[in-house]
Amino acid sequence: MLYARIVLPLAQPPYTYAFDESLGIGVGDAVAVQFGARRYYTGIVWEITTERPSVGRIKEVCRRLYGVPLVGERQRRLWEWVADYYMCTLGEVMRIALPSAAKPSADSFDEFSEEIFTPRRESYVVLCDELRRLDAAAFEAQAVELSRRAPRRLSTLRGIARLASERKAADGFVPRRLLDADAGQIATLRSRGLIVVEQREVAAERIDRSDFLLPLLSDAQQRALDQTLGAFDERKPALLWGVTGSGKTEIYMHLMARTLARGGSVLMLVPEIVMTSQLIERIETVFPSRVTAYHSKLTPRRRTEAYLRLAASTGGEIVIGVRSSIFLPLPSPDLLIVDEEHDASYKQTDMQPRYNARDCAVMIARQSGASIVLGSATPSLESYVNGLAGKYRTVRLDERYGGGELPRVVVSDTMRAVRRGERKSHFNRALLDGIGRALDAGQQVMLFQNRRGYAPYVECRECGWTARCPHCNVTLTLHRAPARLECHYCGYSIDPPAACPNCKTQDISNMGFGTEKVEQEIARLFPEARVARLDRDTSTSERAFTSIVSAFDQHRTDIMVGTQIITKGFDFGSVSLVGILNADNLLNAPDFRASERAFQLMMQVAGRAGRRRSGAEVVIQTSQTDHPVIRQVAAGDYESMARMQLAERRTFLYPPYSRLTRFMLRCRDYERLRQCARAMSEMLRRKFGSRVMGPVSSAVETIRGEHRAEILVKIESGASFDRARAMMREVVAAAAAMQEFKQVTLTVDVDAQ
Ligand code: ADP
Ligand code: ZN
Ligand code: ZN
Repeated sequence: MLYARIVLPLAQPPYTYAFDESLGIGVGDAVAVQFGARRYYTGIVWEITTERPSVGRIKEVCRRLYGVPLVGERQRRLWEWVADYYMCTLGEVMRIALPSAAKPSADSFDEFSEEIFTPRRESYVVLCDELRRLDAAAFEAQAVELSRRAPRRLSTLRGIARLASERKAADGFVPRRLLDADAGQIATLRSRGLIVVEQREVAAERIDRSDFLLPLLSDAQQRALDQTLGAFDERKPALLWGVTGSGKTEIYMHLMARTLARGGSVLMLVPEIVMTSQLIERIETVFPSRVTAYHSKLTPRRRTEAYLRLAASTGGEIVIGVRSSIFLPLPSPDLLIVDEEHDASYKQTDMQPRYNARDCAVMIARQSGASIVLGSATPSLESYVNGLAGKYRTVRLDERYGGGELPRVVVSDTMRAVRRGERKSHFNRALLDGIGRALDAGQQVMLFQNRRGYAPYVECRECGWTARCPHCNVTLTLHRAPARLECHYCGYSIDPPAACPNCKTQDISNMGFGTEKVEQEIARLFPEARVARLDRDTSTSERAFTSIVSAFDQHRTDIMVGTQIITKGFDFGSVSLVGILNADNLLNAPDFRASERAFQLMMQVAGRAGRRRSGAEVVIQTSQTDHPVIRQVAAGDYESMARMQLAERRTFLYPPYSRLTRFMLRCRDYERLRQCARAMSEMLRRKFGSRVMGPVSSAVETIRGEHRAEILVKIESGASFDRARAMMREVVAAAAAMQEFKQVTLTVDVDAQ
């Protein structure tokens, strides 16, 4: 018998199981094991020993799963680093690192089925032998002859011939989906014996060529590329700081091509909501059949397929994915790209491990000697400071591709507009005039409001009653289509009341405004315009999302209203006006990053305008026209913003001058929560003194009926964070052992946002 320490997808340390040598189980393999009386899990073999550990009864491994190890050596090092740094168990890392369908669990062994994943297949077509034997001229003549009474046939035949030669397909087969021909057309050609159709594995098509059709770089882009390669030679991360529309993607493509030419693989991270088909298509056009997309809109099955295919791959892959793709089993990522590196969605905030994928990517590069580039138009202050300190090599790209100017920023004073009667609904005259001009010129408009729904809350004018969630300490948001009052924290929803439940008058009014209201009002003010809305409520599936985006891309809609979703990554040619409807609620967020975030967000939204031609405009509606961040955005002055924010962060010892660790406690019993939070902060203070802040109530005090409190620990940048974490772990262990903490859920967020 051999013994293995096996990681299970639980918040617990690995468990020991026995297995027979004949099973051929190795480190990194997935196995099925029984846990407790009647639960079966997929586990990952972490360590194997021959000596029987001195624990009680040891269960045996049920069986080995999959033909390939699920977790390679490189990934195991990453898992261990994540578990150590973010203070969680390997089991918690496993929960997010493996797609759900790849780690089945069940209540009985009979139901425990390891799904068998067959690679996806698709149709391929090839010209019949007679046609393929002809030279170009004879083929053309023959094709024309065959298409006498069927003109579309000619273009299909030519299309197959052209693709086959372009793709240097040895056997002449080309993917059916690349042809501009309908099913009837293909069926006819097939029945006449002119083509042969075959089902093939998608992955089987691997074009081994390295003469990719790369975009020609401008001089400025070429310089940026050379400097990035220079950073790689120095073994430093490159911070590619390029204004919006400067063509960072084109530089990535050149870097990718070099990596593929050497047989290497590429991992490109993009923020959750930028997973646009636009970006993937652009990259796929240059690297046909190399690109694997990995994001949350894929079904669990498709994600598992991608995972298993990569686990068996030998290289030459381009993976474009969201934060969890850092855990994919790429054989060796030789190049890592983190696009929009400042984006908050790289940090997981809702469950353990609360990791930051950008920081993990930097770590992976360091661990495996890979090159890494972090790209942004508005770098995070952390990366900016790393650039100043020489830890990163900063590469700047200050001009837009094609020499287009950045849009002109107009700051429009909401209070003044109200005073002068120049405000209609939620729009100042300056913005309405701009929209009118853009529409007249046949251009498109994007309007940004960072609230979805119709109105963020409803209030009784008579008695001041507001609709609140009974489970969370927040107001309910009014939605119109369909009409409901909804909690954005827990999903609780009710029908909007006709009368005030408190005083029975019917004078309930909608306060504030969300995207749904903006959409409705804009459609009323510009009846001739086609208005679309992109937010979480309208993009419930990948299909819905894509159809809204492509309608706007093809100019079938004129105005797009949206939340954060519209701010990033999109490249629409004819947007000449971007409106930011309420900058105040960005500036007033109660958090030390509010100014940095507001700056980044407004610059990103602004960057959607005028990408192909000059003369574009951004209108920012605000009542704080003198707010420094507004002035910095208007001037496009990142450095001023950075100087000001960094001075503040240094004074109050916030990142990047410290590392923040947040301890969050949740409990249904308010008194118990307060007592434990106090006890916890005492224990922390004994070790960390004045570095401890709190306990305070969380921003939203109650969610789903649980009260929440938090404690912050700031560790100055010079101090050893490894040692600090070890001490924090002791406190967590001590708390977990206390009787009072039994009802309290304690979570730790390292590098809290
Ligand atoms: P960024 O990501 O820096 O905001 P993009 O990569 O989206 O910028 O580029 C902006 C636009 O300019 C895109 O439409 C892109 O296709 C075009 N573009 C940039 N560089 C080139 C190039 N070298 N050749 C052709 N088109 C380019
Ligand atoms: Zn009332
Ligand atoms: Zn709620």
